[in-house]
Amino acid sequence: MKMKLSVSKVAGGCRLGMLTNLGKKGIQHMDIPGCLLYTKMGSAPHLTHDTLETVKDVPVIAQLPFPALVELQEVMEEYKEGIGRFVGMPDSVMYCSLHDPAVISPPGYNNNKTVSIWGFGGRMEMTPAKFMTIQRALQPDWFQCLSDGDTIAGEVSKKRAKKSVDRSLSFLDECLQLQEEFPELQKSVMIGVIEGGDVLEERLRSAKETAKRPVGGFLLDGFQGDAMAKDTKLELLSSAVAELPEDKPRLIHGIGRPDEVLELIERGVDVFESCFPYQVTERGCALSFSYSYLPDPDGDVPEENGEPNMEESKDKKTKNKILSGAEGMTAFEICLKEKRYRDNFGPLVSGCSCYCCQNHSRAYVHHLLMTNELLAGVLLMMHNFQHYFAFFRSVRDALKEDRLDKLKESICRQAVQASPNTQRV
Ligand SMILES: [Zn+2]
Repeated sequence: MKMKLSVSKVAGGCRLGMLTNLGKKGIQHMDIPGCLLYTKMGSAPHLTHDTLETVKDVPVIAQLPFPALVELQEVMEEYKEGIGRFVGMPDSVMYCSLHDPAVISPPGYNNNKTVSIWGFGGRMEMTPAKFMTIQRALQPDWFQCLSDGDTIAGEVSKKRAKKSVDRSLSFLDECLQLQEEFPELQKSVMIGVIEGGDVLEERLRSAKETAKRPVGGFLLDGFQGDAMAKDTKLELLSSAVAELPEDKPRLIHGIGRPDEVLELIERGVDVFESCFPYQVTERGCALSFSYSYLPDPDGDVPEENGEPNMEESKDKKTKNKILSGAEGMTAFEICLKEKRYRDNFGPLVSGCSCYCCQNHSRAYVHHLLMTNELLAGVLLMMHNFQHYFAFFRSVRDALKEDRLDKLKESICRQAVQASPNTQRV
């Protein structure tokens, strides 16, 4: 059975729906808007399969970055049963993305014949033939096609943007032809990649041409990072999405902040990564934003934020916060490394039902972080994943109940409220 996308509601550009017939057996489904489970090589960072099982709402599609899998080619050719079974996740839907979203690839290495991939052993040049031979060994359920997305580092010339589209279309055609020849990949879904940098005309051409090909979905690539102005990003995304058919999912990589996710959902994006909660974990932080869209009886400050020091920190000079926050920290999290959590015996977020919040305190996680205990990452990852997955559930519920504007209002208010936290000195 072929993967199917049923959109049950479109409101203000947002799409509510379900992807069905997923996976090799075609029995899995996923609600959209939704996110993927970020993994390093089939396992969620810091977590074993057992600990992951205690996390609620774990996405059915696991993302596996291609660079970490390249060296497995020979082993997988011998194993023959595909990467899902190999990593112990036979029931998950495996999506192989071209890059690891947590790793920034150095620019300037792609050419007309190859795309450079950065793995453990450094740079690897991928031709479509080599790329598809490795995919044949991995047998993922979904995979991102080889593409030239090297347009992220600031303004690109029109010529470079055109090149990224030309190359990506030619890689796509070559990969599609090879897929037809490989029986192992008959059930795999290829995700076509929309490139074009910040040049509208190229984005439109990329979207139109990719949509003509028999791909299973679309990845809107090259929007990672801060080099492109936000308004430009949103305009390009809207225009590109308008060229895509409605019955195929649209994915995006590298955008995970709750406020930005909501803006992209409004532009018709369906599937996001969950690299953001991983990055929050890596800086010793816990997601603490409220994703409630119901009226707040207590007024402006969301109680769900679980931030008992809110009043106190507002009184203090923001300077202190800037000095104590973790590098790259956003307004949606608290930094457990801060000294003020040393004797704070409350949960990370009050009311949170995750394993960490049910069993441990902020003070304990602070102690684990200070003593470099591996358990800190485990507990933070459990909380951050559950919090993030619940945010997506809340988005879908709000959309169902026509209250997405309320949720957006709340999220935007929180983004502004704690913004001094995110400014660098
Ligand atoms: Zn929690």
